[in-house]
Amino acid sequence: MPVHTRFEPAGDYRLFLGGQWRQPAGAFEAIDPSTGKPWAVLGQASAEQAGEAVAAARTALRTWRRSTVANRQRILWQIADRIEADPDRWARLLATENGRPIREASVADVPDSAAIFRFFSGLTRDLRGDQVPVEDPHSLVYSTREPLGVVAAVLPWNSPLITLANKIAPALAAGNTVVVKPSEFATASVLEFCALVEDLLPPGVLNVVSGGPETGAALVSHPDVALVTLTGGGPTARRIMAGAASALTPSLMELGGKGALIVAHDADLDRAVTDAVNGIYLANGEACVAASRLLLHESIAEEFLGRFAAIADSIRVGDALDESTQLGPLVSRQHHERVLAHLARARTEGVRVLTGDAPVGSDGFFVRPTLLHDTSGGASVLSEEIFGPVTVAETFTGYDDAVARANNTPYGLAAGVWTADLTRAHLIARELDAGIVWVNKWFDLPAGVPMGGVKASGFGRELCWETLLQYSAAKVVNIGLGAQRVSLWG
Ligand code: NAD
Repeated sequence: MPVHTRFEPAGDYRLFLGGQWRQPAGAFEAIDPSTGKPWAVLGQASAEQAGEAVAAARTALRTWRRSTVANRQRILWQIADRIEADPDRWARLLATENGRPIREASVADVPDSAAIFRFFSGLTRDLRGDQVPVEDPHSLVYSTREPLGVVAAVLPWNSPLITLANKIAPALAAGNTVVVKPSEFATASVLEFCALVEDLLPPGVLNVVSGGPETGAALVSHPDVALVTLTGGGPTARRIMAGAASALTPSLMELGGKGALIVAHDADLDRAVTDAVNGIYLANGEACVAASRLLLHESIAEEFLGRFAAIADSIRVGDALDESTQLGPLVSRQHHERVLAHLARARTEGVRVLTGDAPVGSDGFFVRPTLLHDTSGGASVLSEEIFGPVTVAETFTGYDDAVARANNTPYGLAAGVWTADLTRAHLIARELDAGIVWVNKWFDLPAGVPMGGVKASGFGRELCWETLLQYSAAKVVNIGLGAQRVSLWG
């Protein structure tokens, strides 16, 4: 199978402000996680440049918020067309920047992100207010949905094209303008997106300030930001909310997860095992909805673990640009070290390694697909998000116990159950503390289905109708139709 050509940038990346490509205040290197070598130069925006981006977005808001729904609908649809026009280019870019296996990127990230733009394009015409019936016959009351203003979108490094779409498609559909702060580990994808669509959007409607946490902090604390939307980790969310508190800026938080998959004694084991493997190793295990915990009924546990380990052992780990690679590198050296530290700690806590738990090669940031087994019920890997190709199994005897253990994490994003018993499926789904519960499947996030969590997984819902409401606010127009109102003063 071929090894594709690495993505080559046309030059050093700049900032995208007010429809122009601007020289950043500073610069830093982007590292290809498959090779550990620099592949691009990225811009570091200053706090002033973050402020300029907000000002440009504020200026553009005046016309964009009043642009016709037909206009916004057409533009979002055209963006989707352009994304889909060259899936191979995107795949090479995501593989080079992010370590996403090239065979996944063109069949997952590209169609999924295009679908998000198409979904919100369709919804644009449905964002409407209401005529409100009231007691007073001399009143006419109606509401409209108004955009909030300038949205600050802070992105993570995993699935950068999808997380970008999740934020800017609803924001733009509702008439907001946006300043994006991409992750310092996935900036080029966002800037290549801007280059692809810049002629479709009026200047200032979409702006990108790249850089690290300092750039993000300057952006989210800006007093002219009307909404902060983050996809990222809990510590970042807490810092952002503390910063946004002084300006009373509302926020949406899509955070981490520790997804528990319960496998019942009557599950279709062939399919459940394949699904569990898919659930953790897709996207290199760097997915907030990953099946990073397995709760196995004691009667099937041994067989399940044997079959799972056999598949995990056979997974080809390597260069993300290699067509035969099934699992690519982790995104960065820092993250690689973090995942290995989690594994080292698990060993000290007595967790058994059934397969994996090994770095691969010396250049890129690889970890073998790993399956752990904990019998203590108290290991830290059961509750902490690792965000890599690592899942930890436990066995259970009673279903109430399985649900209690599944819920025993700070997170509440995705969870699931494999069972042949419909009643059990519904009862367990009802009890799981999670924003998403999959039954006899895992990893299915189609546009239109609410995506988001409870507890430490955050708040707000992406990908759905409710999202559009979160990116807009009701404005009430209350009209007197001529009759004198009761006067208390003479
Ligand atoms: P992160 O929290 O380290 O960084 C996210 C973004 O926040 C980056 O752009 C970073 O530069 C920025 N940032 C950091 N500190 C900041 C500050 N003080 N002010 C403003 N911005 C700041 O997260 P990450 O490592 O990039 O992404 C992985 C995390 O994202 C995981 O926890 C994962 O579960 C989560 N995630 C959640 C979802 C979801 O939809 N729920 C999807 C993908 C990823």
